[in-house]
Amino acid sequence: MSAIAYIEEGEIRVKAVIFLYGKYADAPLAQAIEAEINRMWNAPEVVIPVRMQLLTVRFRVEVEPVSLEEARQKMQDNRSHEVNFVRVEDANIVERSMMGRGLGQNSGHWLITDQLGQSTTAAHEFGHALGLPHPHQLDYRGTGYPPLMAPRGTLVDAVFQWNPLAEPGAYGGTMNPVHRRVRPEEIMDVLARAEFNGDYFIIGEISNYFYDETGR
Ligand SMILES: [Zn+2]
Repeated sequence: MSAIAYIEEGEIRVKAVIFLYGKYADAPLAQAIEAEINRMWNAPEVVIPVRMQLLTVRFRVEVEPVSLEEARQKMQDNRSHEVNFVRVEDANIVERSMMGRGLGQNSGHWLITDQLGQSTTAAHEFGHALGLPHPHQLDYRGTGYPPLMAPRGTLVDAVFQWNPLAEPGAYGGTMNPVHRRVRPEEIMDVLARAEFNGDYFIIGEISNYFYDETGR
């Protein structure tokens, strides 16, 4: 995903629009994804001092379903980092939800089986789209909720495992992604990647890549 950021009314606003297309792109799914991303990314209160002012960081992400034809048309015309395109299907060639081939892309292919809007995957993919990689640290035991960008297989305290009774690292003994939370340092990491273009800050890249049903 790409996004833009600007300062308005005492806030640093990070704005993005995601156009959903593909078999599962409908209004209820768009609403659920929008709610998940905004809820998770606005959960930590991050305040940044800028020229004697304390600015709160706020994410404003809108998700809207469009037809295949509308998606194609909007991609052709798009020159804005604010705009993203995500195709939602049952399956794809990489067998997971993804945002392009690198980090910070504005085009993705997500799987409906990833509980989009009902867990943390949509918010996690949004993080990749903003340029965040998985952390190097893969053991968060003793540190509370695991960060949003922690990948599957991460070691966590027993209460955050799929099965709290499983041995760490054994079957059921890794992170259940539903427990991930955005950490303030993840938001700082996003802002550190923003570049000023003269008018506002841009985050990520415009690839405008139209995926087919299988994620090619
Ligand atoms: Zn990931």
